[in-house]
Amino acid sequence: MRSLAVLGATGSIGASTLDVVARHPRRFRVGALSAHTDVAALVALCLRFRPDVAAIAAPARHDELAAGLKAHALPTEALAGTDALDAIAADARFDTVVAAIVGAAGLSSTLAAAAAGKRLLLANKESVVMSGELLMRTAAARGATLIPLDSEHNAIFQCLPRDYARDPDANGITRLILTASGGPFRGWSRERLQAVTPDQACAHPRWKMGRKISVDSATMMNKGLEVIEAQRLFGVGPDRIEVLVHPQSIVHSLVEYADGSQLAQLGSPDMRTPIANALAWPERIDAGVARLDLATAARLDFEAPDLVAFPCLGHAFMALRAGGSAPIVLNAANEIAVAAFLDGRIGFLDIERVIAGCLERSVNEAADTLDAIVGIDAEARRHATAALKG
Ligand code: NAD
Ligand code: MG
Repeated sequence: MRSLAVLGATGSIGASTLDVVARHPRRFRVGALSAHTDVAALVALCLRFRPDVAAIAAPARHDELAAGLKAHALPTEALAGTDALDAIAADARFDTVVAAIVGAAGLSSTLAAAAAGKRLLLANKESVVMSGELLMRTAAARGATLIPLDSEHNAIFQCLPRDYARDPDANGITRLILTASGGPFRGWSRERLQAVTPDQACAHPRWKMGRKISVDSATMMNKGLEVIEAQRLFGVGPDRIEVLVHPQSIVHSLVEYADGSQLAQLGSPDMRTPIANALAWPERIDAGVARLDLATAARLDFEAPDLVAFPCLGHAFMALRAGGSAPIVLNAANEIAVAAFLDGRIGFLDIERVIAGCLERSVNEAADTLDAIVGIDAEARRHATAALKG
């Protein structure tokens, strides 16, 4: 029986994870759950899963959470604050940590889970982008098992040799090919993109996701973050990572080998498949997902990405090649700009303007400790906030 801590339990990945977990009560037990501010949603999940611990990240909500748990006579312990998330990630009662918080807010708990040698199921791509080699080094030193939940990376994980050790040459790997749906604005011109609204940007044609990642998909920054994530997770250089637009989102990514073989993983666009894969690995379990019927799907289309209409992907490749602090600056500027766009404070095309400006102005520096990463992130957020005004 695995005991799970689900950090970011009230989100889209959290809900899909708990859906799979609930199908296998003899295999998984929910030990801990966390949420940002929504006490009512967290208490409702506690009623359903009866965890040992529940944590609300907003410290001021502690008493509200404790009262909510008590009102239902739940034995669950109430914790609050970001330290509580780190403590849960490191708590020996939970062997598996699902990192499903959105954004840099997940960095510290992701690293804490790696440092505690956990089985770490990674959805929080921003923490992988920000922490670079630190996360991989920590995981290796402490014996943590990292399994990607992001559908593309989970697909690659499934197409790699079982004993893959972050060395593409040793395994004859020539390319990783990440597929991208192209988002809701695939084929749109810059002129048309000028006026898009947050609701349009969040109406993804294939995936139902949280609002931040939905906007990232619309700008294609999501794919940019995923290119960096792939480099980190699999140790493959940027020259061997490519992006291929595939609007049906059925082929989730491919690995190319020296003999010309390309191995792909296919499935319905439903996050429960990669989540079930990661939860049960190396076994296979039912994910509750509709079977993929290729005769009904009928066709699979592929095209090169449009880097002129969607320059964020190019910025991400540049930041990855520059290394050091550049990916942290890219991510921080993106988080600030996306939040401002979702609030109606800037337009859609301002997102990439803010990111490009921050990258241009930042001086590249080393980023190999948590303190350095947090400092670079904070400074980039200040620059990005100033750049919102144009
Ligand atoms: P979401 O917005 O639906 O959920 C985010 C979760 O994190 C919620 O539980 C929220 O309470 C919590 N949270 C938000 N801000 C927080 C903070 N400051 N401190 C602590 N907790 C906080 O997001 P999501 O779509 O589930 O995405 C989660 C992560 O998974 C992101 O990094 C995203 O890129 C990645 N991801 C998501 C999908 C998807 O299909 N949704 C697919 C691949 C990867
Ligand atoms: Mg993805």
